[in-house]
This record gives sequence, C-alpha cells and structure tokens, in this order.
Amino acid sequence: MPVPSTKTLFRNVSILDSTGALPYPGDVLVDNDRIASVGTVDPDSARGARVIEGRGRTLMSGLCDAHTHFSWNNSADLDGLGTMPVEEHLLFCLESARTYIESGYTMCLGAASAKERLDVVCRDAINAGRFPGPRYLANGPEIAVTGGALIKSITKFADGPEGMRKAVRELIDLGVDQIKLSMTGEEITGTQRAEDTYFSDEEVHAAVTEAHRRGKRVCAHARSAESVKMCVRNGLDIVYHASFTDAEGFDMLEEAKDWVFVAPGINWLVATLYEAEAFGFPQAAAEAVGYKKELDQAIKGLKEMHRRGVRILPGGDYGFAWTPHGTYARDLEHFVQLLDFTPMEAILSATALGGEIMLRPDELGKVQPGYLADLLLVDGDPLADITVLQKHDKLDYIMKDGQFFKEQAEPAV
Ligand SMILES: [Zn+2]
Repeated sequence: MPVPSTKTLFRNVSILDSTGALPYPGDVLVDNDRIASVGTVDPDSARGARVIEGRGRTLMSGLCDAHTHFSWNNSADLDGLGTMPVEEHLLFCLESARTYIESGYTMCLGAASAKERLDVVCRDAINAGRFPGPRYLANGPEIAVTGGALIKSITKFADGPEGMRKAVRELIDLGVDQIKLSMTGEEITGTQRAEDTYFSDEEVHAAVTEAHRRGKRVCAHARSAESVKMCVRNGLDIVYHASFTDAEGFDMLEEAKDWVFVAPGINWLVATLYEAEAFGFPQAAAEAVGYKKELDQAIKGLKEMHRRGVRILPGGDYGFAWTPHGTYARDLEHFVQLLDFTPMEAILSATALGGEIMLRPDELGKVQPGYLADLLLVDGDPLADITVLQKHDKLDYIMKDGQFFKEQAEPAV
C-alpha cells in the first residue's frame, strides 16, 4: 500500500475561520492531524503536500451537534427504542455516526443513549478508527425519577439524593463522558407535561455534585421555567430545550453564561408541530397539546438569551421519524430564520462554540494554526445561504484529524 501524504494544501479557498472574521481568500496547509498554516503558506513548508484546488470554495470547521442521539432509530415508535434488539441497535448507532460525519458534523455531544453501552461502544470504536464518525462525548441512559420518564423503556430510574449518586456512579463506571437528567415532561408522550418538573433541588444537586467529583458534566432535558432555574442553581452544565424560561431564569442564565450552555433542539419543536402528520401526529393534534405555544415561547426566550450573550448551540433530537438522521443542519437555518441569528452567528455557534462544549476550545471549531484539521470544503457560501450546509452534495470534502472522510472527484482542468 502506498504511504499517504501527511500534508494537504487547500489552495485558493475562501477561509471562514470561525474567529468572527469575514471569509478571506488564501491557502490552508494541513500537516498530519493539525492545521499548520492559514492564509499565506510558505511554499517550502508545503513541499510534498497533496494539493486540493479550492477554486474559491469555502473552507470551514466541521460542525457540532450539541444534543446527539446515535441510538434514536428514525422511528415514530418511541417505545421501540427500548425493544429494538441490542445487536441491530448497535449497527444502527454506527450508521448514525457515519451519517453525522457525512453531513459535515465532526463534533457531537451525546444527549442520552437508548441502551446502557451503545454510546460508549460507538465512541470507542470511532476513536480506535474502526468505524467512521464524529468526535463523540458519550452518554448513558437518561436518568428520571419514578413517574417522570419520557420513555420508560430507555430510562434509568433513580429517586432521592442517594439514588442519584448511585445512578451517576453506575453510569460513570460504564464509561460515559456526561450524565443526562430528564427533569420535565414532553407533550408528545400524552401523559407528561412539558411544564411539569419532576426532580427536586436535592436530587439535581446530588447528581451534579457526584458527576463533577468525577470530572464529568451533566446535561438535562429541561423545558419548564422551574427546571431551567434548578439547573443553573445547582451548577448543571448543559441545559437542553429551556423553552419556558422566565424572567428570573434569563437573569440566572446570563449570570452563568461563562459556564453554562443552552441547546434548545429547536428543530424538534418545528418538526413535531408541522411535519409529523405522516407519522400519526398531525399539526392540529400537536397544537392541541401545546407545541405551538411552546415553540412561540421558546423563540421569544431564545432571542432574549441570545441578546444577553448566553451560549446557545444548535443540534437536538434528530433520529425520530420526522427528524431523521442526516438533516442536522436544519438547526442552523432555524437559528437564522426563527431566532434572528446572523448566518455568521449561527456558524460560530455550530463551530467555535462546538469546540467549547467539546471542552477543547483551543483545538476544535476554528480554522487556525495548531487546531485539529476537522474541515469542510463547501461548494457555496454559507453566509449567503445557510441552507447550503444541509446539502450533502455541496460538502465536497470532509476531513477529520487531517484524514479525508469524503473526497470529491475533481473535473480534469
Ligand atoms: Zn434528546
């Protein structure tokens, strides 16, 4: 087998570097797994490099999904997540991982796994180079209290502070990178209301303290106003949804903005409201149980958080029948269309903030010297049309760790 070149030169690309600067023309040199130089490349240092002619295409960081479920299986049968045999389920998860990177996602933060070890096994297999996929922070089954599960068949139940400590310890023992608490309801279940809060402060405090003691973070399904405040009060790291955040909650999130992340999973609300009819959940039914009200409130609240500088990241709950894997970049369009992010802000949320939530802000999420070479060469300008990132055939090259996952057959010149 020929020894592959360890250097790649992207020549004449439009560099969207995720520092906030406007794109500018130049070259980018990758040496092994890292970006060596950006803008002007010393010809000596590029000697022997494989050359990709950019012809003005956009070179940018790979994207981040802050709320990933490899194990959500594109079905409308929520309980099926529990009953799917583990062998088929693992294969499905590996396919999800490949779909993420095919979609330009090189960073994913696991937001719960339908069975105990699906996430950690996938993470380890990706890291060992056995299967393609994004960089992944693995989760375990979500923890809920008795009577507070969204989907019983995929839940790890725990009650009281001692129960929380034990559950967290067991999940850490499995090898998870973070813990998920399912703190509130969700209307689609038919029984659990989004504005119900099932956890007590003591339980959240115990779970967070125990996870932090072991250097792990905690994320939470938190739709109600009270749950968001409970998260912040107890130092919980990543708040998912946050739809019904109230004025006091905004103040608390703003105060905590240096350490807390919010990932609304906004596409879940949009698609559940408007696009689930073919799967037995028509818009009228979704409105009747409150999804329109929740979406309206979430949009208002997220704009307010954005105004206050709270870190809001795209991603969330892809892997249901009406939010299928591979459509992840719809979130970025919603950030622009619904939340009034500029396209640049949406891209920074999905890249630079991705590096932050992956806990590697100095080496992930930017096109900068020394950063890991997780790069997309996009045939289009995402600042002019954010939806180009949804079009897989416009993602001409996808690189992770300096290795091409996808290469475009270039026309002969
Ligand atoms: Zn989720």
